[in-house]
Amino acid sequence: PVSRTPEIQEERLKLPILSEEQAIMEAVAEHPIIIVCGETGSGKTTQVPQFLYEAGYSSEDSIIGVTEPRRVAAMAMSQRVAKEMNLSQRVVSYQIRYEGNVTEDTRIKFMTDGVLLKEIQKDFLLLKYRVVIIDEAHERSVYTDILLGLLSRIVALRAKRHLPLKLLIMSATLRVEDFTQNQRLFTTPPPVIKVESRQFPVTVHFNKRTPLDDYSGECFRKVCKIHRMLPAGGILVFLTGQAEVHALCRRLRKAFPAYSSRPREKEEEDSAEAMRKFKKSRTRARKAQAMTLPQINLDNYSVLPAGEGDEDREAEMDDEEAALGSDLDLDLGDDALGGGEQLDASLPLHVLPLYSLLAPEKQAQVFKSPPEGTRLCVVATNVAETSLTIPGIKYVVDCGKVKKRYYDRVTGVSSFRITWVSQASADQRAGRAGRTEPGHCYRLYSSAVFGDFEQFPPPEITRRPVEDLILQMKALNIEKVSLGSSNHIPVLRVKQLQQSRLSCPITALGRTMATFPVAPRYAKMLALSRQHGCLPYTIAIVAAMTVRELFEELDRPAASEEELNILKGRRARVAQMKRTWAGQGASLKLGDLMVLLGAVGACEYAGCSPQFCQANGLRYKAMLEIRRLRGQLTTAVNAVCPEAGLFVDPKMEPPTENQVTYLRQIMVAGLGDHLARRIQSEELLDNKWRNAYKTPLLDDPVFIHPSSVLFRELPEFVVYQEIVETSKMYMKGVSTVEVQ
Ligand code: ADP
Ligand code: MG
Repeated sequence: PVSRTPEIQEERLKLPILSEEQAIMEAVAEHPIIIVCGETGSGKTTQVPQFLYEAGYSSEDSIIGVTEPRRVAAMAMSQRVAKEMNLSQRVVSYQIRYEGNVTEDTRIKFMTDGVLLKEIQKDFLLLKYRVVIIDEAHERSVYTDILLGLLSRIVALRAKRHLPLKLLIMSATLRVEDFTQNQRLFTTPPPVIKVESRQFPVTVHFNKRTPLDDYSGECFRKVCKIHRMLPAGGILVFLTGQAEVHALCRRLRKAFPAYSSRPREKEEEDSAEAMRKFKKSRTRARKAQAMTLPQINLDNYSVLPAGEGDEDREAEMDDEEAALGSDLDLDLGDDALGGGEQLDASLPLHVLPLYSLLAPEKQAQVFKSPPEGTRLCVVATNVAETSLTIPGIKYVVDCGKVKKRYYDRVTGVSSFRITWVSQASADQRAGRAGRTEPGHCYRLYSSAVFGDFEQFPPPEITRRPVEDLILQMKALNIEKVSLGSSNHIPVLRVKQLQQSRLSCPITALGRTMATFPVAPRYAKMLALSRQHGCLPYTIAIVAAMTVRELFEELDRPAASEEELNILKGRRARVAQMKRTWAGQGASLKLGDLMVLLGAVGACEYAGCSPQFCQANGLRYKAMLEIRRLRGQLTTAVNAVCPEAGLFVDPKMEPPTENQVTYLRQIMVAGLGDHLARRIQSEELLDNKWRNAYKTPLLDDPVFIHPSSVLFRELPEFVVYQEIVETSKMYMKGVSTVEVQ
């Protein structure tokens, strides 16, 4: 029996989903798989787990699992549900990749979708769960999609064993056809329970013009106007990343200094300081983790390369440096207030940031009522779009943009880019304004631009390379994976044990590769390095290639003569160190990969100190990550090959000449499809091919990047780690291939 407080009980009764409790529970009783769909804020995430708990769908050894695509939701929702149910976090708990509070008493477990996928690798039938809820299925995150493919099979296998598993799929938008109309996924379409929402009308206002780039400034002006001229009601602003969020918060606080005499003000005003501390403590935690590297338990990390598909979080991480450097924005605030207007201290605005990486106690602030006589203004990334519902919002200001990872199909290069959202996302954002009363949404772009938005965001699985996922699926004995269906949810066929060895089962090599938490091409290098003492070197190189961009960007334009001279000096120093690390003769043939090895070796030798990194143009943060990954890979290799007895040697000797030759062969084995051949002088038809290379996949010439130690060597055959396109297409991470 659950004893909720009267206040909580009253709040719950306001949620539309409460009136569907009976319908949902009847459907769950009668069907193995059901779909619950309802507007954001209708109570799906917080209430459905409670319904199941109260109906007895959890016991000591079979619990309720809930997956979320975002870490922030897994943590926040477990806290909220524990509070509503008056239970401790020992009972309602969460698990994300690196942390969690699950105990043996846990009955409801919120987790990221990546965590559940990892559990399937250990226990294919998920026997410890009685119910699995896949939340936010409409987001179509890659792990959620894979989970749906797997769970549709697991539910059938569990039924055969008379240990039924219930699967609930919860979705916010009307995109349920993706799940119901997929005959290959669910032979009988699961019943859909629609939660009627009490959405109030939202008036959408488009800008006449679309600002070219300063949408942050446009947001600032819009919030100022709303706050000055419109009746009470909270404001929610959508921006794309942490740096922007902080900059806008500071500008708004400066424009409307609300609590100058309150002690609370200090804490609020000082979010930049808090960020700095948070960052420091994380760095410290990372350092502490790095110190204990060789002891890392295999269970502590996912064997899935990406681990968690929390794109927001990654996108925000990219921002970290920028967030700290953006104090410059601060003073721009005043003139934007316009002709002769004064700072207005009489209008208190309670400004709060919200994004994935924000410390949880700061995130929780947005759910509290703002101080008496102030107006709430939350400046958020797209976490506020569907995963978290902020109460009391009447005005939404939408910049219309989102930061997304973008993959180039040809080069395989990935980067974060700010793009327009989809129409569905824009409508979700607008909907946040009509939860408690009629509201307004201000779109900072024209209706014509909106008309050009795509209808839905494409599922993540269509936007990223999938070789790592296919390998993992094969390692799970999934016989067949087809992504061919129109809506891209993977359809999986689980291999029956008795009919094994049919249709390309995973090879021994593939199985070994699947245990390493890096991309398959690097995993292959590791798996092939057992002989001749090459493993420690391959591990170091693979760690460096996975972390990427070891060297600071020194090609940036300089603001002054003085800075230019400093930059020139540093560039010369880095070039010299690269030559030293690359060495001569045999070792130079390993090219940039030898440089990586030399840099990692030298940096470790110097204790991986910030001073060493600074002096040699290395990114300190990257070097710490490499150190950590080296530890993880060493543990993983020892697990499949205990006789190797590897450890992370801070005083690693350089490889011998023979070892360098083997290393080059190993690199070619992993980068075999990244081969390029130099254009011979007799083939030179057009000058644009001078010093160029030809690759199998591209029609255009590619070049060795000027930062490469092989830039002047121009070997006939090379393999490369990646191609980046700037003024030309450049190969980076180049190594020589010898043709016998
Ligand atoms: P859905 O999953 O359907 O989008 P939720 O279950 O997340 O809806 O939210 C239901 C209600 O619970 C919302 O009104 C939301 O504001 C409220 N809520 C969620 N988390 C908290 C919290 N930590 N504190 C206060 N209210 C919360
Ligand atoms: Mg939800």
